[in-house]
Amino acid sequence: MTETGDVVIVGGGLHGCSTALHLARRGVRSLVIEKDHVGRHASGVNAGGVRRLGRDLAEIPLSVASIELWNSMEDLVDDDCGFHKTGQIKIAETPEELSALEARAAEVRALGFDHEVIVDKETLHDLLPAVAPHCVGGLHVAGDGYADPARTTAAFRRKAESLGVQFFEGVTASDFRHEKGNWRVSGKGYEFEAPVLVNCAGAWADRIAEALGETVPLATKASMLMVTAPMPRFIEPVVGSQGRKLSFKQSSNGTVIIGGGHRGEAYRDENRTTVDFSGLAISAKTASLLFPVMAKASIVRCWAGLEAFTPDGIPVIGASAAENAYHAFGYCGHGFQLGPIVGSLIADLVTSGGTNLPIEPFRIDRFEEKREE
Ligand SMILES: Cc1cc2nc3c(=O)[nH]c(=O)nc-3n(C[C@H](O)[C@H](O)[C@H](O)COP(=O)(O)OP(=O)(O)OC[C@H]3O[C@@H](n4cnc5c(N)ncnc54)[C@H](O)[C@@H]3O)c2cc1C
Repeated sequence: MTETGDVVIVGGGLHGCSTALHLARRGVRSLVIEKDHVGRHASGVNAGGVRRLGRDLAEIPLSVASIELWNSMEDLVDDDCGFHKTGQIKIAETPEELSALEARAAEVRALGFDHEVIVDKETLHDLLPAVAPHCVGGLHVAGDGYADPARTTAAFRRKAESLGVQFFEGVTASDFRHEKGNWRVSGKGYEFEAPVLVNCAGAWADRIAEALGETVPLATKASMLMVTAPMPRFIEPVVGSQGRKLSFKQSSNGTVIIGGGHRGEAYRDENRTTVDFSGLAISAKTASLLFPVMAKASIVRCWAGLEAFTPDGIPVIGASAAENAYHAFGYCGHGFQLGPIVGSLIADLVTSGGTNLPIEPFRIDRFEEKREE
């Protein structure tokens, strides 16, 4: 069975769905191939953090452009995706940590961005009445927040489908060939054919890159999260910590989601992860150190998701050396917020060969250059 389109997209996570949607809005019809189901991996199981706060400097322009799309999400996908503009704060527990945050805010301001704002002890305790008394201040981004990851990915898929995008789930894309100006990809009895190929394959994307002749030192990691039973409301903003591994938020239903850097084991060939309870215990302890009310929380569920990490902590976004092929992967645990804009910029590249956003730092050949140094 041969399916033809304008673009073949490998991966039905948020980035694949967003790319398909933005292309469809420009009249370009995609075929999205997903080996499991849409949103099965990182895009459906993440913490939903919509964060400009603390971004790698190279990512800031993309993240700032993406928040504009989050702010008008209903217009883009007919769903607000559960986006709550609660703000995000990184807490300092010592004057030294606060100084480091001040230096960071200055660095961001020097680039012309003013979204990261230092808050003193009094303001911190106003914003976070339940925070431990010893905390001395923080770095705050008022317009950040959180959204519902599975709902977001489903909304992008639904809107893309309504504009003519075809999704093929349970189909593993393989055998990538460029023949007579077309990409041909096989999978589960199908042959997919289109002039353009986009690699949004998340934790498996290095394999697609390899098939196109590009080697990327991608690591697959299993970031963990846990969720509590519903608690009386005690916090609005999403919280991180300057000195500890923590990401922490209370959802609109009262449950608290705790994560932040501790990892389980990743088995990408088996499509699964395991959690590390000792890491989760450290996260739970950190949460109750910073928010004493959490000592009474009951954890009801924990999980880990597969995510692609590059050695330099920023993604691969842009053209492949192979003809009419593009990459968007390797988000190192913070690609959810970027999903809306990356789809748009890949659509720019496909339709016009360029984009106004600065994507030079995300070139795939940067790893090649490192090896040669
Ligand atoms: C626990 C956790 C918490 C996180 N928290 C946050 C957060 O708070 N904020 C934030 O911004 N980011 C967060 N992230 C990161 C974010 O989830 C990811 O960066 C983002 O979802 C990546 O989207 P994606 O579409 O690139 O990848 P994915 O969602 O992984 O999608 C890639 C898809 O490609 C498919 N695929 C791979 N190979 C093939 C093939 N050969 N054929 C067909 N299909 C294929 C896979 O099955 C997969 O569904 C978190 C991640 C995890 C795991």
